[in-house]
Amino acid sequence: MHKFEPRDRKVKILATLGPASRDPEMIERLLTAGADAFRVNMSHGEHADHAKTIAAIRALEEKTGRPIGILCDLQGPKLRVGKFKDGKAVIRHSGHFTLDRRDEPGDETRVQLPHPELFGLLKKGQRLLLDDGKLRLRVIRADDDEILCSAEVGGVISDRKGVNVPDAEIPIPALTPKDRRDLAFAVEHKADWIGLSFVQRPEDVAEARKLMGGYGALMAKIEKPLAVRHLDEILELSDGLMVARGDLGVELNPEEVPPLQKRIVRQARAAGKPVVVATQMLESMIESPSPTRAEVSDVANAVYDGADAVMLSAETAAGQWPEEAVTIMDRIAGQVERDPGYSEHIALGHVEPDATTSDALAEASASIANTLPIAAITVFTASGSTARRVARERPGVPLLVLTPAVKTARRSALLWGAHAVRTKDIGSFEEMIAKGKRMALRNGFGAAGSKLVVLAGVPFGVPGATNLLHVVTLTGSELEGYPTEP
Ligand code: PGA
Ligand code: MN
Repeated sequence: MHKFEPRDRKVKILATLGPASRDPEMIERLLTAGADAFRVNMSHGEHADHAKTIAAIRALEEKTGRPIGILCDLQGPKLRVGKFKDGKAVIRHSGHFTLDRRDEPGDETRVQLPHPELFGLLKKGQRLLLDDGKLRLRVIRADDDEILCSAEVGGVISDRKGVNVPDAEIPIPALTPKDRRDLAFAVEHKADWIGLSFVQRPEDVAEARKLMGGYGALMAKIEKPLAVRHLDEILELSDGLMVARGDLGVELNPEEVPPLQKRIVRQARAAGKPVVVATQMLESMIESPSPTRAEVSDVANAVYDGADAVMLSAETAAGQWPEEAVTIMDRIAGQVERDPGYSEHIALGHVEPDATTSDALAEASASIANTLPIAAITVFTASGSTARRVARERPGVPLLVLTPAVKTARRSALLWGAHAVRTKDIGSFEEMIAKGKRMALRNGFGAAGSKLVVLAGVPFGVPGATNLLHVVTLTGSELEGYPTEP
């Protein structure tokens, strides 16, 4: 217990679980391959399945001692088609296709569109983009019961695929009744992060926050043009952001996404809040055991940009090679971070510290790590705030986060460079130093002669009061007489 291999990379891997990966044995394989946190996608599956998935993750956490983050991702007001007779159908190029209100399985001529608000709203000439924009329909005629379209780009469409309507403004609330049920489920099951989809306004975030209670952190998914316009305020009200490139690239032109990705990563990082780059990162690995060169480059570039985490979606949730996808992502990240030029890229996003004691010490600890042979920056933190301020500096060494709070440990699974370990509360300065040394050695940071930066707040246990920076040297014999400890 309380000892597990540190990852040899700073960026985290967030893997979505689903039918291809949610049995306990596969979850363990993904963890071993490098997943740091798991996403439970509330858009698919039943609560009973999700509850089993979460229980399996927690059992694995218990078994390995590694705190694991769980992100429950709410569907949000995402529009989707209904189901098909054979699970899917082929829509012919330049053929006709109808969306209607009939709750019956679809075929190659029609499917249900279970969103009453769209009928009577869509107009001739407007576009409907299906399945992340892979198929494109244009409205020929729309009335209260049927929307007849011509398929400008046809293709295969399967059950419950997404629909984007970029040409129309749809009056839907931020949290649907389903989202409210799913949010209550996520809170009840102690999700560490709750993902809020299709956020448009700061009020959407505020509303979700009210319903969340005290445990989870809120991740706003940036996937609507309106959210981009309100980015500052949304970031201010959130605990983290996701660059949700799937819907973002459909709602906007795809070429608008890369500059936005860089901007969102930079801004979240400047705010000291974790940011996840998501969607299609290794898309071809849904079917193939190896990725395309372009995908490898894409993942690498997100790592160079200094994202806190990179995400796998269908690759791990529904693909044929879930374990391989995590392995490849881990290898790409490791290769980038071993590049001598990596730190220069990371330094590009450096931001000045705020005029606070915490930030001054966070910056000092990163700078000391460049000067002395520091094995890790060891942070004693209850709320995790000190760890986030240090991670914001993107230091050249790992961050050993020692915390009595399980939620802080788990939440850190999406924080750049953090290796979190749960410990008992400490009562004195001497105890802190001795424990910091032991924990570093026990968790594989440093050896005889290497040094640690230790950060904490005195008096202990008062949040947001980091005021102590201490540099210590390891003798290597600190563990004698302490075989194990929490
Ligand atoms: P989704 O979100 O997978 O829930 O749609 C991510 C995205 O849109 O990129
Ligand atoms: Mn989305």
